Amino acid sequence: AKKLGRNNFQFYTPAMNEESLERVRIESALRNAVERDEFVLYYQPQIDIKSGKIVGMEALIRWQHPELGMVPPGRFISIAEETGMIVAIGAWVLRTACAQNKAWQDAGFDRLRVAVNLSARQFGASDLIENLATVLRDTGLEPKYLEIELTESLFMSDITPAVDLLHRMKALGVNLSIDDFGTGYSSLSYLSRFPIDVLKIDRSFVADITRDANDEAIVTSIIALAHNLKLAVIAEGVETGEQLDYLRRHGCDEMQGYYFSKPLPAHEFEQLMVEGRGL
Ligand code: C2E
Ligand code: CA
Ligand code: CA
Ligand code: CA
Repeated sequence: AKKLGRNNFQFYTPAMNEESLERVRIESALRNAVERDEFVLYYQPQIDIKSGKIVGMEALIRWQHPELGMVPPGRFISIAEETGMIVAIGAWVLRTACAQNKAWQDAGFDRLRVAVNLSARQFGASDLIENLATVLRDTGLEPKYLEIELTESLFMSDITPAVDLLHRMKALGVNLSIDDFGTGYSSLSYLSRFPIDVLKIDRSFVADITRDANDEAIVTSIIALAHNLKLAVIAEGVETGEQLDYLRRHGCDEMQGYYFSKPLPAHEFEQLMVEGRGL
């Protein structure tokens, strides 16, 4: 976490608006957040639509700051990304999620996959593969129970190093998924060249599937595309029974969303498993 300590001078001017002031406040508070243990992970269940069983969870970061309160990721992830602090934060997320998942497995719960979001900065870091390998070794989590969520934006610049990196990640035995699928601008050609396992349908498409014919067409096409490429497909942001029915009828493999559960702190997620709750 030493890397976070780099001096960064900020100049306040009277003209500085509320937004940039908040940005500066968040940026300086973020510098100490890892050391001060202010982050927690929440876990959102991912359910196999056919069996109705929980098969995985996505780890989502939450920041509990003593003065700012609970700061949602939407307010600090991009700042952490721009300042490079995301590398240390992301390393913490990866280690914590793997350790928690292993602890649940050791406690005798059904073995689940844990999905972790990878930022562009982490993807670009030279020690990514080494970090992944070290965390898997230290925590003892079998790599097949870890899924790395990538966004299409990571592949936009120069695709060749990305192909190589993804193959090296895959060689570790972890699963790779494309998050927010369909919202990026990258070409579909990467799908045939990259060792991807899962497509995650962005929730903006799921939101209107029961009302908007265009979104229906997009969602059914993504499901067909995934299956034709022998990939699994998961729908995000499922909020209603109608949406779930639609996805079930069209053969979507997994769902994640408020309809089943919002992201939960570890002890509440554990309670779900204790109760054996399913769809
Ligand atoms: P994401 O990866 O697309 O994560 C899904 C987001 O959708 C989460 O928001 C989740 O709480 C929300 N969500 C889940 N189900 C529903 C639903 O049914 N309806 C609605 N309206 N929303 C739903 P959250 O936790 O606020 O995270 C926002 C974004 O912040 C994430 O989007 C991800 O891009 C980023 N993020 C979160 N945790 C991490 C992390 O550990 N590392 C990195 N690099 N990014 C993270
Ligand atoms: Ca995600
Ligand atoms: Ca997503
Ligand atoms: Ca997103």
